Amino acid sequence: MHEFSTAVGVVETVLDVARQNNAIKVKKIELVVGEFTMLNDDQLKFSFEIASEGTIAEGAEVIIKKQKGEIECLDCQYKGEIADREKKEELDHFVVDLVNIFECPKCHSNRTKISGGRDIYVNNIEIELEDES
Ligand SMILES: [Zn+2]
Repeated sequence: MHEFSTAVGVVETVLDVARQNNAIKVKKIELVVGEFTMLNDDQLKFSFEIASEGTIAEGAEVIIKKQKGEIECLDCQYKGEIADREKKEELDHFVVDLVNIFECPKCHSNRTKISGGRDIYVNNIEIELEDES
């Protein structure tokens, strides 16, 4: 499951930051998830719960912010969102590494590449420190 391995990575990142800051508990995590990562929010949250079990990040609130996917046209240099929403739904069944799957909304060329929204990262972490009451 794609979501689970991602969640494990997220937990590791979060625990690293928490340790560096002498946290005793992680209260809240804000994740930025690119549209083209094809990660399911609910599955990601669920996977996080499992992956964080027994760590100080267990029970942390997970906020997911979506980042819009972006393509770049090799013909007209258009850069921005895709217009073909239907195609995007279909994407779930494809490997995201495929190129030339989106049509440029400006010149309708198929020579496009994905230029944004393929990443997932931890944007913000709220922790509880030892000397906090
Ligand atoms: Zn174009």
